[in-house]
This record gives sequence, structure tokens and C-alpha cells, in this order.
Amino acid sequence: MKFKFYLLLLLASTTLISCADAGVENPAAVGKLAQNGDFDYQVDEFADIKVLRYQIPGWEDLSLKEQKLVYYLVEAGLSGRDIIWDQNYRHNLKIREALENIYTGYEGDKTTEDWKNFEIYLKRVWFSNGIHHHYSMDKLKPAFSQEYFDNLLSETGTELTGEAYEVIFNDKDAKKVNLDESKGLVEGSAVNFYGEGITAKDVEEFYAVKQSPDPNRPLAFGLNSKLVKENGKLVEKVYKSGGMYGPAIDKIVYWLEKAQGVAENQKQAEGLGLLIEYYKSGDLQTWDEYNIAWVQATEGNIDYINSFIEVYNDPLGYTGSFENIVQIKDFDMSEKMSVLEENVQWFEDNAPLMEEHKKKSVVGVTYKTVIVAGEAGDASPATPIGVNLPNSNWIRKEHGSKSVSLGNIIEAYSNAGSTGRLQEFAHDEEEIALEEEYGELADKLHTALHEVVGHASGQINPGVGETKETLKSYASTLEEGRADLVGLYYLMDPKLEELGLVDDHEKLGKAAYDGYIRNGLMTQLIRIEPGADIEESHMRNRQWVSAWVFEKGRDRGIIEKVNRDGKTYFNITDYAALRELFGELLKETQRIKSEGDYEAAKNLVENYGVKVDQDVHREVIERNKQFKSAPYSGFVNPVLVPEMDEAGEITSIKVVQPVSFEEQMLEYSEKYDVLPLEN
Ligand SMILES: [Zn+2]
Repeated sequence: MKFKFYLLLLLASTTLISCADAGVENPAAVGKLAQNGDFDYQVDEFADIKVLRYQIPGWEDLSLKEQKLVYYLVEAGLSGRDIIWDQNYRHNLKIREALENIYTGYEGDKTTEDWKNFEIYLKRVWFSNGIHHHYSMDKLKPAFSQEYFDNLLSETGTELTGEAYEVIFNDKDAKKVNLDESKGLVEGSAVNFYGEGITAKDVEEFYAVKQSPDPNRPLAFGLNSKLVKENGKLVEKVYKSGGMYGPAIDKIVYWLEKAQGVAENQKQAEGLGLLIEYYKSGDLQTWDEYNIAWVQATEGNIDYINSFIEVYNDPLGYTGSFENIVQIKDFDMSEKMSVLEENVQWFEDNAPLMEEHKKKSVVGVTYKTVIVAGEAGDASPATPIGVNLPNSNWIRKEHGSKSVSLGNIIEAYSNAGSTGRLQEFAHDEEEIALEEEYGELADKLHTALHEVVGHASGQINPGVGETKETLKSYASTLEEGRADLVGLYYLMDPKLEELGLVDDHEKLGKAAYDGYIRNGLMTQLIRIEPGADIEESHMRNRQWVSAWVFEKGRDRGIIEKVNRDGKTYFNITDYAALRELFGELLKETQRIKSEGDYEAAKNLVENYGVKVDQDVHREVIERNKQFKSAPYSGFVNPVLVPEMDEAGEITSIKVVQPVSFEEQMLEYSEKYDVLPLEN
């Protein structure tokens, strides 16, 4: 699961903790902070996108062997960059090559509006790893004419024909992931997980008859394959060496083998070995064995996520998108968070769940703040801010999971964040004061509770399948909402004070509730087009949670909808009652998951999470116009530059910041261009 920190982007008022706070207690880091005080976080801004940089604090403190391990793992990730482009859309690689050829070869007038619009379009495509918006899922619309594009093609001798050319300007494949069933979940989605003429029904029937050797330990069928029709029969094209994406996978394996050679310990080496084996065979049994080894490898200072993992881009939730995140431990922050981990059973025992849905013993939950050293695939340039893996429920239950918060990414976000929105959308001065004093800690603890306690909490009833089978397209948003609710419920619990995590749980809770409701019912709407529905899982869950408690508490006026000078505000009048409502919704959400109650999931999401209040939406967009800052951010990666001796041995590795977004994108396309244009 990924956890994205959009709240922070919208309403950041002060800096977030992570590295900055850690530095105060760590003299070594203080020096570095001072040194990096004038670090320029922003690289570029275009359309609705800001591109930022992040640093790798503590890089110099790693041993050369550890630096090598990081470097090899980063290269392994970048080697798979083309995979995500092709997964996102079957014509993306062709289009990217054509656009880049124009960009580097055009010698005509570059001062015109048309050329600037072409540049913006290319940057948007780079940012989204394809021609569909990374968040709204809508196909990007170029602001230049087809005629102008034809001119660019001919002047640079670039060839782009047929559907790959036409689709830039027509209405075909308009949505990357379509969750509107009436348009067909598969037929309506542009992603490249299913071949021509395949429907959701075909896919479900195909996987329904697949049997796992051990029914209690179900394999993740469909995770690493494209389902196609060949001679009228459904066949899986498996992602593996010699299979689909083979050339990229072979490069990944090459770098993983190097990483295995400098592994920090036996368990980590075993994990890498199993991942290599999985990439070579595509065998899902090996994938599970790998995940168990990976989850048990907790000793090292370096960790990584690398493979086909999150299934949000598949409208049916089977196939994983390629992603890579290489991480260095942040010991200081992890220590603070381990308090939650040590008490996870208390949170489970005291949760407002039905007794039969509580886990009797919550296993192996770990929470760590890490320093990101490199990202690729679906995690780049747009990145999550926290990750909890593996996704398999049975592995989580039997072996636990790893949960990380990406500290330096969060720090970069907050330092580049905009101010002013809080003043505009908060109901009163007290709300602003609480946000300024506690908002940062509330966000951080919410993330921690969401990941450590939330995703680990609760159990599915015996005989009920995994949520992707039972709750289908509602599984992701239901799970994210459930984890959010666990966090919300506990953010106002005296236990947090008792554990020394906060000095005043009531103030912290108030700041958290104000922020959540403000975002869920208003400010997150700046991210979607007027008239559009909410599609993204996390955004949906923030709305269905907020809208549900608003409605259920309406008679008692628990959350007031206030109109002042023509502006709408939501004012929480009874925080304790609101907490009870969060608890009630948590209980129901867990019941839905435990019982696999599809109808209830559908009703909850469709009634509260999809449709937007048009009046409020119009107003929010209007009020937001004064804030120029782009709503979405992502990152370029620091470049790791090895220096070699005469024998070709790496003697040191330097961290260099890229000069511009386009420089890094062009370099990646040149260096990691390993797949054919059609796969
Ligand atoms: Zn989550």
C-alpha cells in the first residue's frame, strides 16, 4: 500500500519534522542541515506540476560497501523505467521517442507559444510516465494544433504514425484507469494489462478457476502478466527473463546480482536471491517466498522495494505496476515511531471493532522512517510518502509487514510547500492556531498510525476471500479509508499522551480532525476538473470518510456547514462526538472487509466518495485561484556518480543534483532505453 501525503501539500504551514527535527538531536546532522540551509528544492514548474529535488542526508556516513549496495539497487530500478511506460499505455514508448526526437532535434523558432506548449506537453508526459495524467487518469490534452505537430514531425524527420499518432489528438483511450463500470472496467481503461477484446468478466472467470496449492495461502494470480487472447483463447504473457519485458528484466537482474554481492547480511542476500529467481522464472510461488524473506530481512541499513507491486493501476486489481524505491534507514526517527509498534496490540484490543474482527496477536509490524536514495517506475517522478508491504494478506498475517515513511521526501515537500490556503479555508482563528502548533505532528502521527496500526489491524472472516475478489474495484479505497479511520480514532486518544508522543492529545486530535475534514470536504477538490467525479482511491476515501461523518452528525450539528460572506466553511463543534462517529465508521468498514460485503462497500463509496458537491467545488476552485502554486509535486532523483580506479573497481560514489527536469528525463531515456517500442 502506498500512502500519499496530499494534505501536507495543500496546507503546509510550517515545516514537517523528519530530518529537520532529527537534526536537532544529532550533532552530525546539524552541521549538514546548516550546510544545506540554502538548498534549492524546486527544479521546475509547468501546468499543474511542480518538480522538486531531494537530498540524501547521511550519505557520507555510509561505508563504501553500503554506498555500492545503494548504487546497484538504484540502477536496478532505473533499468525498469521503460516497463512502467509500457504498462501505462501500449503506445507510450513510441510517443515518448517521437516527442524526445523532436525536442532534441528541432532547429526552428523556439520562442513561439506553440513551441512552449509542445515543451509543456512533453514535460507532462515525462512526469506521468505516459500520456495520461498521473493522478486524474485523464489523457493529457496538448495545447498545440495537430498541424503544428505535423510540422515538427517533418522538420525533425520524426516518424509517428497510426494509432500512436492519432491518439494524441482524438478521444480514444481517454482514461488510464476507468472505474466507471458502465464503460467497462477493462475496455474503458487505457492501461496495457489486458489485450484487445477482453472484458472484466473474461478476466474474473480466467482467474477464478486458478487454484493455489494451499488455499489458505493464495498466490497473487495475474500480478506479473498481461492477459491476451490468442486464437480465441486467454493466455498470460508473463513478465520475466525471456518473457514480456524480458530485456528490461535481464538488466534489473544484472544489477540485483551485483547488489547481492555486497549485501549487508545473509537474510538480505537470500531475499535478493529469491527476487532474482522470481524475475528469471516469473513463478508466483517464488514471489511469495521472496516476500517472506524480504519481510524478515530487517537488520540492514539499506532496504529496497523493487518489482511489480501496487495494483492501483489495474482497474481489476490484479496486475502490479513496476516500481523501485531504495532506502537508507533513519535511526533517530524510527526510534520515536517504534513506540507505536511496541503498543500495536493495545491499539488492536481497544479498537472499536466487533470482537470477531480483531486480531488476537498482531504480528511483526515495523515502522521506519527512511531516507530515499533513488526512485523509479511508478514511484517516480510522482512518489508516495509512505509504503506498507507486502500486499498479500496471508503473508502479512503470518509474517508481518514492513512500513516505511519516506522522511527526506516529506521534508522536501514541506520545504517547498505553499502557505496561505490554511488562512483561506480554516473556519476560525483557533483552527489556524491549532494547525500551526499541532498540524505537523498530527500529520506525522496520522501517517504512522495509518501504516503501523491501520493496515495491520483487523482480520478477514474464515472462508472469505481476499478483498480484491470480494470488494473488487472498491477494495483499495476501502482499505485506505479503513487505515485512515484507525488513525483518526486514535489521534484523540489519551494513550498517545501516555506514550509520550504528544503533550496534549486533545489539541492534537482537534488539529487532525479539522485538517482531515477541511481537506476531505473542500481543499482536495482543487485537484479535479469541474464536473468530474473523484477517481483516485485515496481521494475517494478522504471524501467518503468526511462526507459520511458529516451526514451522520448533521442532526446533532457535530460538523456545521457555515456560510460567511459567501464562503463555505466546515466547523467541528463536538470533537468527542466526531471521534465516536469515526469509530462507528471504522467498525462498519472493518465489517465490510471481514465479511467481503461488496454491496455495502459499493454503497459507501458510490454514495459518499465519488460524486462532488458542484457548488462547493466551484467555490473552492475560485477561492484557490489566488494561490499560484501547482497542486501536484514530484521529484528528480539525485544522481549517484561512481568513480573507478584503473582496475574498474568503484573507489567512491558521489551524489550530484541534476540541473533540470528535462536533463534527467533525456538522460534516463538514453541510458535506460532497453525495451522495444511495442511489447
Ligand atoms: Zn495506506
